[in-house]
Amino acid sequence: MIDGHVHVVGNGSSGSGASLSLRSPRHRLLARVLLHSIGLPGSALRGNLDEVYRDRLLEFIDESPLSHVVLLAHEHAYTSEGRLLPDFGSMYVPNDYVLSLTRSNPRLLAGVSIHPARSDAIPELDRCVDAGAVLMKCLPNCQNINCSNPAYRKFWERMAYHRLPLLAHTGGELSLPVFNPRFADPVLLELPLQCGVTVIAAHCGTRSHLFDPDYLPQFARLLEKYPHLYGDNSGMQTPFRSAHFRTLLSEPYMNRMVHGSDYPIPVSGFWSALRRTITWSHWHETRRIPNPLTRDIQIKQSMGFRADSFTRLTDLLHGGVGK
Ligand SMILES: [Zn+2]
Repeated sequence: MIDGHVHVVGNGSSGSGASLSLRSPRHRLLARVLLHSIGLPGSALRGNLDEVYRDRLLEFIDESPLSHVVLLAHEHAYTSEGRLLPDFGSMYVPNDYVLSLTRSNPRLLAGVSIHPARSDAIPELDRCVDAGAVLMKCLPNCQNINCSNPAYRKFWERMAYHRLPLLAHTGGELSLPVFNPRFADPVLLELPLQCGVTVIAAHCGTRSHLFDPDYLPQFARLLEKYPHLYGDNSGMQTPFRSAHFRTLLSEPYMNRMVHGSDYPIPVSGFWSALRRTITWSHWHETRRIPNPLTRDIQIKQSMGFRADSFTRLTDLLHGGVGK
């Protein structure tokens, strides 16, 4: 069982190089809610966040039924010409931090994050693959990445050469500042797909709030066209995204579904019970599970996500994991 979508967060307190700059009151409040949901005090934001976040996460992983977990780095935003936008974005998690965390524990795998417009994007990609990266993660709408920009072709070709999959956020985003909402459209994943990259569309293009476009139909059309496209069911135990679980449990989605929690996004079966994808008694059972990684698995199993959705990443991640 692999969780392919787990965020590392930090403020650099351990010398990790990670940073967190919560400029708007909404993002500050949200950060506190997220910390609270994993049992950490809001004061950790200004304290030793690196250490307490890491230790809590490792505890949860240790007690979970997961064999492997992909820890995600988080890249800066850049212009399409490759100029760093240091004042945009609220979070940065360097590749080296994630790579160093995964070296100490064989259950942990590194999901690195590289903006394809960086002048050193390809050397950084080669370096990360050599260092053991299993996938590359990006948030196109927050990091300003139009994945179908022809200037990025060489980068995607290099990823295809390495057989390194792309995990790309699709659909709206609530937890981080959005640079260009149009880049949430999974249709823009066509260029990497055409270059032969295995792509996992995080959240399958579903809507994050009421006024967000729903890109699930676009995602479905791409699934038909590209057999190497997958979707993850991460971060969907929320009021709006939970509406799409029922659809994802059917074909053509189910055959291409991979498991992800989107930790530390809160996990509650309440929304699914309300939408009758699980029973109220399943909700009562799962709400007693203190470990959010385990709770997420239990809720998805109750919903009917098949066993292969929890193990599919074994074949997709760079190098094939657990073989
Ligand atoms: Zn995420």
